[in-house]
Order: sequence, then structure tokens, then C-alpha cells
Amino acid sequence: MERRNVGILGATGMVGQRFIQLLGNHPWFNITWLAASDRSAGKTYGEACKWKLDTPLPKHIAEMVVQPNTPEGCSGELPKIIFAALDADIARELEPRFASSGCAVISNSSAFRMHEDVPLVIPEVNADHLDLIAQQSWRRETGGYIVTNPNCSAIGLVLALKPLEERFGIESLFVSTMQAVSGAGYPGVPSLDILGNVVPFIKNEEEKLQEEVGKLLGRFNGSGVEFLDAKVSAHCNRVAVEDGHTECVSIKLRTPAGREEILAAWAEFAPLAGMHLPTAPAVPVEFDSAQDRPQPRLDRMRGAGMAATVGRLRPCSLLDWKFVVLSHNTIRGAAGAAVLNAELLARLHKLDPVKQLAAVTA
Ligand code: NAP
Repeated sequence: MERRNVGILGATGMVGQRFIQLLGNHPWFNITWLAASDRSAGKTYGEACKWKLDTPLPKHIAEMVVQPNTPEGCSGELPKIIFAALDADIARELEPRFASSGCAVISNSSAFRMHEDVPLVIPEVNADHLDLIAQQSWRRETGGYIVTNPNCSAIGLVLALKPLEERFGIESLFVSTMQAVSGAGYPGVPSLDILGNVVPFIKNEEEKLQEEVGKLLGRFNGSGVEFLDAKVSAHCNRVAVEDGHTECVSIKLRTPAGREEILAAWAEFAPLAGMHLPTAPAVPVEFDSAQDRPQPRLDRMRGAGMAATVGRLRPCSLLDWKFVVLSHNTIRGAAGAAVLNAELLARLHKLDPVKQLAAVTA
């Protein structure tokens, strides 16, 4: 695979730092452009960023100068692939500007996730939704487009649900989350609010989780996504965990299934096998049979932070089955999800917007 230049928008934040960590030695992508707010522009990345990860900040990245946050402000050649880690309000304004400049914008933000022409994608779940790109006006005019990955809680949950939806169908589900503090960005929740505490409210999170499940597990009909016809009820809580979102799920299936059938559905789930995507975990949904797993500290790094771990599968007296799912919120739930989306786009030859446009208009 030819190595492509990429940029990171919102490079200094929690998710931006994960992008730098995951892309630092990536075999297909090479970071050539970093941007953040006006507060950071003009400084070196090392000066602008409070590096919070447990691997060293690469020296060549620390020395890069943070660029202004617009395509026009780029001093050199703007890369055609932009990973974006911006708050939704800022993303709503900036991401279309990059798409209209011919960039493939691989976004983490919620700004366009539910837009009818924007794919909301987990490669193992709904890769076919990427065909929505063709309907975007940016794509038709300049070759650029926006692709999004889901909310950090939706990703782990939907990875666990997809094999069950495929085999048995889902009628309804109830989910209660315990979400890590890193999910709120940096500096995030004040320590006096979260230490020794649980905060049973994360603004807009329950709504996002409920609607994104429907789109992700929906059917692409050639022109749009028909949402999954299932009731989803979510409770979202912030807990004093650094990284890793834990979710307790109860589910009602359309066709009855036994324990062994559910375990087989998870174990046999390998939709990306043979595609050789560098960031894809070999086992996307790992079942742990121990009675007290998964746990964030012990299980969040499975599959290099890209696997969802399920456990505690048992009958539910209200619905059919209940279980726990855990995933790393800033890797599988954010930067890793976007990198995997970009790898899938590259594998499907959809990552070079200019070439794609030429093919379409020829
Ligand atoms: P964060 O730590 O607060 O970082 C925000 C980033 O945006 C910083 O790089 C900041 O740069 C930059 N920024 C702020 N204003 C800007 C502007 N006007 N123009 C350009 N850049 C600007 O937030 P985060 O946790 O990384 O989250 C980023 C996005 O990812 C959000 O939409 C969030 O909902 C989503 N997300 C986060 C997680 C997670 O687990 N954290 C998971 C999934 C999705 P400065 O340093 O210069 O201020």
C-alpha cells in the first residue's frame, strides 16, 4: 500500500494525541500536518500540547509547527486525508471547509454522524454504508467527503450487538454505561466532582447512544439507511475510571437463542478477516468467561485497545439475556476507530478523493 500524507485537526486534545500515537509508526499513513485552535497555532506541537499518554511524544512530531485551522491557512501542501478530533460545534463549521477543499475528512465528532448522506461506520459492522459518500455534495464538487465514527459508548456496544442482530435479530435493549473520565476530553470533569463519585449525567450522551445504534445496525438500501427497528433505552454515567467504558446490557432477541448460540455468534464474528487492515483486531469481540470480567484496567488494551470484551452472559428476568461489554474509549471509541475507517477506505480504493472524482466524472 502506497504511504499517504495525513493531517490531524484538533491534534492537541485527548483524541488528537491518540491519533499521533496510533499514526506515529503507521505503515500506510504519514503525519505531515497538525492543527488546533488559535491558542496553539504557530507554536511547536511540543509547546502547544500537554502530552498525556504513556508512550513518549515522538521528537519529530514535537518539533512540527501547529498550523492554522483552515485549509487556506496551510503553509505547505495540505494533505488530502484529515483526521478530525474537534468538539461538535467547531467540527460543524470546519469539517465541511476541508471536505469542500477536496479532503477526505475522517471525523470523530457528532456534528455530522446523523446526517442522512454521511456514513456513520464501524468497519466490522456496516462497511457498506460507505457508499453514502457518493451522495455528498462535496464529493460531487471537489472529491472531498466526510465519514464519521460513532460515539465512544456506541462502538463497543454495537460490536457486541452486531453478531446477535445478524443471527437472531434484536427487538429491544437496555444499556447502562460507566464511562471513563478521558471521554470528556482534557481537562474534562473537575477532580472534586468525580473522585469517589459517580455522575449520572453526560450531556446528550443517552440520545446519541440511542440514535446511533439504530443507524449503525440499519440497512443501506442503495440510497439511504433504514434504521434498525428496535427500542433502545440508555442510562449514561461518568465514573472515576481513567480509560475504558463499561456497559451493562439487557437484550430481547427476535428469535430465541441459547447461551451456546450467543457465544458462537460472538466467537465466529470476523467480518474483516483477510482484509489485512493494520489496526483491525484479530478478534473484534472477545468473550471472557471469568465471573468478574471485563474490567477496564485489565481488559481495555485487548487487541491493542481495538477489541470489545464481553462477559457475564446470563439470563435476564426482564428481557432475554444480559451481559457486560467493555471497550477503550479513546482507542476503539475514537482515534483507533477513525484510523480503522481510513484503512478500510484505503483498502476499498475510496481514500483518494481526486482519483475517485476523476473516475466518477470520466
Ligand atoms: P479535547 O481534549 O477537548 O480536545 C479538543 C481539541 O480541539 C484540541 O486539540 C483543541 O486545540 C482543538 N480545538 C479547540 N477549538 C478549536 C478550533 N476553533 N479550531 C481548531 N481546533 C480547535 O477533546 P477530545 O476528547 O479530544 O474530543 C474531540 C472530539 O472527539 C469531540 O467531538 C469528542 O466528542 C469526540 N470524541 C471523544 C472521545 C473521547 O473518549 N475523548 C471519544 C469519541 C469521540 P487547543 O489545544 O488549541 O485548544
